[in-house]
Amino acid sequence: MPGCLISRRLTPKVKSSEINRIPDCREISKIFINGKWLDSTATFPVYNPANGEEIARVADGGAAEARAAFKAAAEAFKSWSASTAHYRSAILYRAWQLMLERKDELAALMTQEQGKPLKAAANEVQYAADFLLWFAEEAKRNYGETIPSGRADQRFVVQHQPVGVVAAVTPWNYPVSMITRKVAPALAAGCTIVLKPAESTPLCAIEVFKILQEAGVPDGVVNLVTANDPAPVGEEFCSNPVVRKLTFTGSTAVGKKLARDAAGQLKRVSMELGGHAPFIVFEDADPVHAAKGAALVKFLNTGQACICPNRIFVHRNIATAFLETLTARVAKMRVGAGNEPGVAIGPLVNEQAIAKIDAQVTDACSKGAKVLAGGDRLVDGEFSNGYFYAPTILHGVTEEMLIYREETFGPVAPVVLFDDDDDILAMANDTTYGLAAYVYTQNLSLAMRTFEGLQFGIIGINDINPTSAAAPFGGMKNSGLGREGAREGMVEYLETKLGGFSV
Ligand code: NAD
Repeated sequence: MPGCLISRRLTPKVKSSEINRIPDCREISKIFINGKWLDSTATFPVYNPANGEEIARVADGGAAEARAAFKAAAEAFKSWSASTAHYRSAILYRAWQLMLERKDELAALMTQEQGKPLKAAANEVQYAADFLLWFAEEAKRNYGETIPSGRADQRFVVQHQPVGVVAAVTPWNYPVSMITRKVAPALAAGCTIVLKPAESTPLCAIEVFKILQEAGVPDGVVNLVTANDPAPVGEEFCSNPVVRKLTFTGSTAVGKKLARDAAGQLKRVSMELGGHAPFIVFEDADPVHAAKGAALVKFLNTGQACICPNRIFVHRNIATAFLETLTARVAKMRVGAGNEPGVAIGPLVNEQAIAKIDAQVTDACSKGAKVLAGGDRLVDGEFSNGYFYAPTILHGVTEEMLIYREETFGPVAPVVLFDDDDDILAMANDTTYGLAAYVYTQNLSLAMRTFEGLQFGIIGINDINPTSAAAPFGGMKNSGLGREGAREGMVEYLETKLGGFSV
């Protein structure tokens, strides 16, 4: 393991008395500022979406807590930004090791809090840990540049320095990896950070911050403010002059609001927003292979992933074989609580999610779409207290339907038939979003032309998982600004500084 390569000298030391300060989040969930877990008189409940049971109560922070966290982050920035990249790298390595050691317990907590099946939760913890490892390595590769000048007596030197204090907001659908995808590059770059997790998944966030503390991240470098109402914290994030960078993952509507508010002080922003992925199956593709892929990526996280397909374009001549396989696959998907063996489809996040899906399915059916599977909320027996929706296939979806335009964020696969390959690029690009897209064809030149013509940031060609800590993740148009992961992920947290030296 690369962590074993860290020399004793570089491994940060954590006193056991410091580790003892870390609370068990299930009995007491506090706000983490300046290395201390602080009490709060106000708390809010966290529920299991599979059965509606209250799991824990969490400290309810607001603008005052955010302000205190920024003060601590600004103070900590002085020494953290001056520390060596090797030191910061060693801490991230240690966090990576700790996260992998706790993979099973973190996955179990995630299943309880967010709902996804245990295996998917463990995969997410692995993905989250990947960012810690990747940026532990990238920390040491913050290279500068020298540029030849036109003047014989001048030298240009370029350095990349940390932007400063970062404010981060993360969503509930990937409650661990969306945190490390921001925190790891920020720390690698030398920034300090204040993070607000989603109100429905604060427990996963608390566990991640416990790992960071235990890995030896110094006081004030990472700070966590949990809150039931995100608005006051968001206002502080956008208006506090200490904050130099705002990074957000969530819906396009909230992202745009925060970007507008942050523009008042011209803070740098990164925005990972919604998607409406096209999944294109050309006539020459293997329809069975493509349908298996569609079944996997559409129903990933119960359809609650920003890269889930929302328009499955299938050439009419292979539609029968495609739909047979897709329908057979969906029929086998077991719905239930994520900790039940064999469950593939967990609960949705809340009542509003169900209402949105219902509205899109009802609208599509009223305009002529046919339901080939599912089509209903599940309410009986084991489903009675949770937010379950049957995995659904809609056939004959057309551009007049809501689902053709709106992100669903649920387990509904809308299938749109097409006849002419020449039309498909325009159809796929006919959306305000531009995050992920998928293409199935065996024709290399068609694959390349489609890849080049699609206005999306992440494109899978005969591949449903074009994501990795090593690869840039992000969208075009209303899907966002900036990239996470990869080399680009750290650049988001760096300023470019030019020195012109007269010699
Ligand atoms: P959301 O925008 O409602 O919430 C996301 C986060 O923003 C939460 O932490 C929430 O508390 C916070 N928030 C909401 N209003 C706020 C405000 N006024 N000020 C500050 N913070 C505020 O989105 P969601 O429903 O939690 O997540 C689903 C959305 O996220 C989908 O659109 C999905 O596509 C998108 N998403 C995108 C990516 C990506 O990488 N592009 C990844 C995951 C999710």
